Amino acid sequence: MFNLILFGPPGSGKGTQSEKIIERFGLKHLSTGDLLRSEIANATPLGMQAKEIMDKGQLVPDAVVVGMIRSAMERHADAKGFLFDGFPRTVAQAEALDALLAEKGASINLMIALIVSDEELIKRLLQRGLTSGRSDDSNETVIRARIEEYQNKTTAVAGHYRALNRYTSIPGEGSIEDIFERICEVMG
Ligand code: AMP
Repeated sequence: MFNLILFGPPGSGKGTQSEKIIERFGLKHLSTGDLLRSEIANATPLGMQAKEIMDKGQLVPDAVVVGMIRSAMERHADAKGFLFDGFPRTVAQAEALDALLAEKGASINLMIALIVSDEELIKRLLQRGLTSGRSDDSNETVIRARIEEYQNKTTAVAGHYRALNRYTSIPGEGSIEDIFERICEVMG
């Protein structure tokens, strides 16, 4: 198996690059943001609870997202590898993910972090909010809360995989094609 984490703050281009990576490398795309939005679209109890938290730009509880990832991995047990997008966002989630993969005799092979300035992130997210239909993209206060959650809780996840020698970073500004080329280079 080859398991990849695409890492970076909200608006760093994880979703856009994920689409290209799964096509090129045949990985199964697992985005906790997409999984949560699908729970909301289906008006499930989990979705209703998560929506309140997501609308404030905060992180939903670790147990909720780890449970969703566990069942998604079970649904795609035959995948040749996973691309994790927007997950793990806390060190506790990273530890849970490592344990889930260890059960399959696997691990995270690589974390690629996309480096983008705060100013560019806010610009991109406000732009995306015009068309994405995502309420958390349309309000600058919520966008700033999401970036703050990232700084307070998520950046430490990079340290977790750096300590395991799995971390690499690339500039996340420039054209979509240029960034994808940089990703392909580090994928080797
Ligand atoms: P995203 O689509 O990755 O930007 O996620 C949108 C929102 O979903 C985030 O602002 C969080 O509220 C929630 N979310 C997505 N993934 C996670 C995660 N791994 N842990 C906690 N909350 C998450």
